[in-house]
Amino acid sequence: MIAVQSTPPQSLPSLNPPSVPANAPEHCPGTESEQAGKADACAGCANQAICASGATRAPDPNLPLIAQRLAPIKHKILVLSGKGGVGKSTFTAQLAWALSSGVKADGEEVQAGVMDIDICGPSIPTLMGVSPDEGSVRSTAQGWEPIYVLPNLALMSIGFLLPQQNSAIMWRGPKKSGLISQFLKDVAWGPLDYLLVDTPPGTSDEHLSAVQYMKEAGIDGAVVLTTPQEVSLQDVRRELDFCRKVGLRVLGVVENMSGFVCPSCKGKSDIFLPSTGGAAQMCKEMGVELLGKVPLDPRIGMSADYGVSFLDEFPDSPATEAYLGIIERLKQKLEE
Ligand code: SF4
Repeated sequence: MIAVQSTPPQSLPSLNPPSVPANAPEHCPGTESEQAGKADACAGCANQAICASGATRAPDPNLPLIAQRLAPIKHKILVLSGKGGVGKSTFTAQLAWALSSGVKADGEEVQAGVMDIDICGPSIPTLMGVSPDEGSVRSTAQGWEPIYVLPNLALMSIGFLLPQQNSAIMWRGPKKSGLISQFLKDVAWGPLDYLLVDTPPGTSDEHLSAVQYMKEAGIDGAVVLTTPQEVSLQDVRRELDFCRKVGLRVLGVVENMSGFVCPSCKGKSDIFLPSTGGAAQMCKEMGVELLGKVPLDPRIGMSADYGVSFLDEFPDSPATEAYLGIIERLKQKLEE
């Protein structure tokens, strides 16, 4: 594990309280938020018409600052999943390792970054060999400094800002949005070729906030992770619908845990049955591209626990071959 440089204790960013009228229901997202009048909590509220009209919303002063901060980053990619436990964060970490091992046409190393905005389960630090307990974010005149896993691979996790790693975070939408906005505005990434944003599962406040704030700076699109079984695909269809509604391009879908290849005998078996045709059929129906299928390999989990690059450690694995194919196709799509 990389020991994060020890710094003076970092307090949580101070967040402006949302503007909530006295007659608003308990889960009001705030009349000035993007979700005002549209959130589930707004159904039946006496103020819904006025809030939905946008009249209560002032332009967010953070938007131009976020756009300015993210401007030196060439490609910004959201990594999404409909359901938890499909390997989204592990995929993000492996993708980051792989991208950072690339060399550009001018011979320079690719500069990559990972931003982890999973407030309730930030696992990227562990997956990338950084112990969240060992330090906190260093604040400089330029902003919050990311942690460098490699000289050309930067990482910032919302987990670094949470007061205690093992405490449950019970925040409502506006507070989460405020933290994500501050996170996007204040992290000094510098010029990057790729920034991967690892999000929580589902389509929640964090996703709406990330899309809303990053749109000004330009998002290339989203990669959506699923597993082959129908129960996972159902949630992915909702995720794809979310992307359509917020105008987010879907770069493609990755089917993870797609069969199991025994590392000893190389025999293949399906652990999660693609009973309704798996991601391939779902992609056909939804009109999105299947970027590839990654088979299960127990060594992926081991690499994740040790925080190392699976692709570097096990170049002979069929999963590595699948990852590399997906990454190659993703790069092509980003250049399209
Ligand atoms: S409509 Fe929504 S945002 Fe507006 S006051 Fe009611 S709950 Fe709050």
